[in-house]
Amino acid sequence: MQIINPATEEVIEEIAEDSSETISKKFELVKDGQSEWAAVPLEKRIACIENFYAFLDTEKDKLAETLTMEVGKPLQQSYNELNGARKRLEYFIKNSAKWLAEEWITEEDATREKIVYEPLGVIANISAWNYPYLVGVNVFVPALIGGNAVLYKPSEYATLTGLHIQQLLYRSGIPENVFQVIIGKGPAGQALLELPLNGYFFTGSYRTGKYIAEHTASQLVPVQLELGGKDPLYVMDDVVDVHAVAEAALEGAVYNAGQSCCAVERIYVQENIYDAFVDAFVAQAKKLVTGNPMDKKTDIGPVSRKEQLKFLAEQVEDARQKGGTIMSGGVEPKGTGYYFEPTVVTNANHGMKLMTDESFGPVIGIQKVKDDSEAVQLMKDTPYGLTAAVYSKSFERAEAVMKQMNTGTVYWNCCDRVSAGLPWSGRKNSGLGATLSYHGIRAFVQPKAYHLRG
Ligand code: NAD
Repeated sequence: MQIINPATEEVIEEIAEDSSETISKKFELVKDGQSEWAAVPLEKRIACIENFYAFLDTEKDKLAETLTMEVGKPLQQSYNELNGARKRLEYFIKNSAKWLAEEWITEEDATREKIVYEPLGVIANISAWNYPYLVGVNVFVPALIGGNAVLYKPSEYATLTGLHIQQLLYRSGIPENVFQVIIGKGPAGQALLELPLNGYFFTGSYRTGKYIAEHTASQLVPVQLELGGKDPLYVMDDVVDVHAVAEAALEGAVYNAGQSCCAVERIYVQENIYDAFVDAFVAQAKKLVTGNPMDKKTDIGPVSRKEQLKFLAEQVEDARQKGGTIMSGGVEPKGTGYYFEPTVVTNANHGMKLMTDESFGPVIGIQKVKDDSEAVQLMKDTPYGLTAAVYSKSFERAEAVMKQMNTGTVYWNCCDRVSAGLPWSGRKNSGLGATLSYHGIRAFVQPKAYHLRG
């Protein structure tokens, strides 16, 4: 398998993919290791994660460079990701003991009762490439702390990062027979589905997620899915500072070249401030620097996958043909690298794919709305349910909108944000189950009920 730098289109490395035979061997290895690992005291398992936390800092230069080289995000954003991952680790280190401790329900009655949380066993962590550290640690860290063994399949677009993670976990004290990386593309992931694992934790597209849920259904083991979105942002006419809101919305739309699961994917603006908002938004979009992700000046690096360029160009062209006005960008720059200029389309409507299909790139549509009720109706017009954001001076007005969203997350005067203390979950086509918060600690264990007499 070739690892290609999306900024230069050069082959960085060639790596052998796992076959179903090597994957089965890795499974046998970790299956044996898991029960020993589960017997290691919880504090010792957490101590390994503390070591990993330290390595993410001491090794950050090498890790950030590799990440930028293989996925194309601007170097500063790679550092931000590593810092973000450390924040999540802090949460797990501080809170896991509390949520994994046995719970006494009654100690006084003739029959004493308690709940003990036991690991699931061997789990698959099939992962995406856009934030390999963040989406990875959401799963393998609480899984390991909970006493599970992990077969971790990084995306084929973030393989080198996956190997770094493996190396650092081993150096942190996680045994080799507890954590194994699976290298490869779809077929390597598919081979994991054929094994009798005790849980499947997937981050990626709706299409693959649905396939995994269907394919593993007869195993009757937990399946969690963190999938895509088409997240709306609504700007009410009472916002105090239109420029600041435009700046926040733009960052939410184009950070990491728009390749965030919770990126702002469509914007609705109330008609009284529509023109002012569009002016501020477009002016700032035109200032964004697209280019070499290693360069400090760069805001937008290349997208990670070549085929995405055609997809984005088609979405923009579809919007143009249906009456959208392209205010900036809209073209693939000539030359080497998978670059796409940040593109703002106004006069957008739901007849356009840009407003209904996940873009996963630096393109955004803006639609004018009459009032809150029209905004709500459009925001809800989607098969996805990851996040929704509302900007307004009034919490009451914003809350009335947030309550009507069928999404796992809602934002008031912020967007494109994940917190380790809150559950991260998608509804409808955006996923199943939750990571992060105590829900994301308990997701990797199963309760056992003890009825005790005598
Ligand atoms: P993808 O579905 O193409 O791939 C995800 C993983 O699945 C990869 O490791 C891939 O090799 C593997 N895979 C492919 N076919 C498989 C099969 N048949 N069986 C098992 N595994 C298989 O997704 P992607 O392009 O890596 O990620 C982008 C998507 O992920 C976007 O839709 C984005 O919104 C979503 N995402 C969601 C979250 C979240 O937390 N909700 C976070 C990051 C990304």
